[in-house]
Amino acid sequence: MGSVSVKEWVQNVIKPEEIEKYLNNGKDFLDENFINETLFKKQKPDKSEVREIMTKSLELQRLEPEETAALLNCNDEELWQEMYTAGLQIKQKVYGRRIVTFAPLYVSNYCVNNCVYCGFRHENQDIHRHSLNTEELQEEIKALVSKGHKRLIMVYGEHPKSDVHYIADTLQTAYSTKVDNGEIRRVNVNAAPLCVDDLKLLQEVGIGTYQVFQETYHHQTYQNLHSRGPLKRDYLWRLYSLHRCIEAGVDDVGLGALFGLYNWKFEIMGLLLHTIDLENKFGGVGPHTISFPRLQPAVNTPWINDSPYLIDDDTFKKLVTAIRLSVPYTGMIITAREKAEIRDDVVKVGCTQLDADANIGVGSYSKHTLDVSKQQFILGDNRSLDEAIRALANMGFITSFCTAGYRCGRTGDYFMDIAKKGKVHHLCMPNAILTFKEYLLDYASNETKKVGQTLIDMELESLPNESIKQTVREMLARIEAGERDLFL
Ligand code: SAM
Ligand code: SF4
Repeated sequence: MGSVSVKEWVQNVIKPEEIEKYLNNGKDFLDENFINETLFKKQKPDKSEVREIMTKSLELQRLEPEETAALLNCNDEELWQEMYTAGLQIKQKVYGRRIVTFAPLYVSNYCVNNCVYCGFRHENQDIHRHSLNTEELQEEIKALVSKGHKRLIMVYGEHPKSDVHYIADTLQTAYSTKVDNGEIRRVNVNAAPLCVDDLKLLQEVGIGTYQVFQETYHHQTYQNLHSRGPLKRDYLWRLYSLHRCIEAGVDDVGLGALFGLYNWKFEIMGLLLHTIDLENKFGGVGPHTISFPRLQPAVNTPWINDSPYLIDDDTFKKLVTAIRLSVPYTGMIITAREKAEIRDDVVKVGCTQLDADANIGVGSYSKHTLDVSKQQFILGDNRSLDEAIRALANMGFITSFCTAGYRCGRTGDYFMDIAKKGKVHHLCMPNAILTFKEYLLDYASNETKKVGQTLIDMELESLPNESIKQTVREMLARIEAGERDLFL
């Protein structure tokens, strides 16, 4: 940061010309009247309409707003059961019985903003602030790699201490820290909106997906909750952050809304309009992932208990299913904010990624502590990676640590194209099997090894192509003999 004050730094972050170029006749794509009218128009969908829409989702076509509105307004429990089943079928079609796992790594929790729901907000005096230095970050990476992790989402507050140069340096450290057979092969980032030039810098150091959650798509609610954040209060700077990512070449982007801030049906319509605007502006490339964090308690953050929009578990399952059906080909992330039983349940309606072994205190992996004064919020699922993987294997899901796609350039429009044709799993399932084998050999408990190996045998047999099957068998033998990082 040099001699620049925090105030001066803040003044130079937002580039109005990088917002204006994306507006349509001076307006953003989030047309609230349209959302409200569409939800109103589709208040009482009949059974046949809902089933027709489900068929469209099962054909892996993205829904139109009227169709999503009809699903959201469905009050028939029997139809919801059919939608849950359809959600899983869609996931299997696009991704196979594969779940990607990763660990969240909180790198810096200084923040200039004051989001009323977040433990890291600037005015929260009960939070212990820290930015990891290189040695501390290396210790964190070593602790994670030693458990078997290959993928991270690195998380940063918005502050000059964690500006783009810090993010780039920490990404490089994460990629270059090796332990025995292990290393981090893909780093996604969840951080504040950046300008195009900064995003280009992150692209150069090999960033994976860039996630920015809009929190709420409802303009007035957004203003109310973020009015005291000097940067975050700019709704449009955030709304177009992922457009800027794709413009800068970071073509895997992650959308999200924080459920519990406003009406859940409105937020899903917002996520859909966001998807459609990205697809329209970037030749069909929409979000690589959609996240749907639900508000969790945080230290010294009483506002959360007063929100009138908190949602129960049943509604949560419905909203996850509605997203699955609305954007059938996108990745969907369920985090350890949720309790184990809920995570296990929503994996069965179509989630494709989850974090495991999460510890969200800055510096907490290497120190083996669970210190809530360093955490952004309180976690619901504290299972170890080994336990989470075993639970998934018992449900018939194979955990994938594969990162081959990104390293072979299968991102952005290439990925979207194969996802829409339901062909992701053709390469991904063999790669999932290979990386799962590595995990079982290097990190798993005996109990997990047993269930895991049975699953590998089953998945290997169900690979559709005889020559791929043979190649995978040969690669598995090489892995058993000590080779690593083999992929198709
Ligand atoms: N500071 C950056 C930002 O706000 O974009 C990125 C990091 S922030 C730590 C990551 C996400 O955590 C936010 O986008 C928000 O959706 C989520 N979050 C904040 N407070 C939360 C809470 N109390 N419960 C659950 N999720 C929360
Ligand atoms: Fe800062 Fe992000 Fe938390 Fe808001 S959500 S206070 S921007 S860390």
